[in-house]
Amino acid sequence: MDDCIFCKIASGAIPSKKVYEDDQLIAFHDIAPQAPVHVLVVPKKHISGVNELAADDLALVGHVYSVIQQLVRELKIDESGYRVVVNSGKDGSQSVPHLHFHVLGGRSLAWPPG
Ligand code: AMP
Repeated sequence: MDDCIFCKIASGAIPSKKVYEDDQLIAFHDIAPQAPVHVLVVPKKHISGVNELAADDLALVGHVYSVIQQLVRELKIDESGYRVVVNSGKDGSQSVPHLHFHVLGGRSLAWPPG
């Protein structure tokens, strides 16, 4: 999608601090980290959000979690713990309308979220 910032990052048109890439996904450090580790795992296919996931995308979501398992080991937060967050819509504080999975860790995370 032409005016989507995560599509531009996925295509390389906008630089990112990339930690992982394959044909389906890219993962990079969040520009405004909310924890010592804060990476975003982003499908390259433009899907606006959870509401727009289709039955065809289920394998992609499974792949996201497989890559998250690998990333948390590499980022050394697999044993200390972490949170995977998908903000959705206005009340969920989603600011970028391209599906992405926040992976947060490196400190104790409060619950419930604000
Ligand atoms: P959300 O508010 O859940 O839609 O999350 C969007 C996230 O994208 C926020 O945490 C932003 O800090 C992050 N973000 C926005 N632009 C960039 C960028 N160019 N590079 C890395 N992260 C970004």
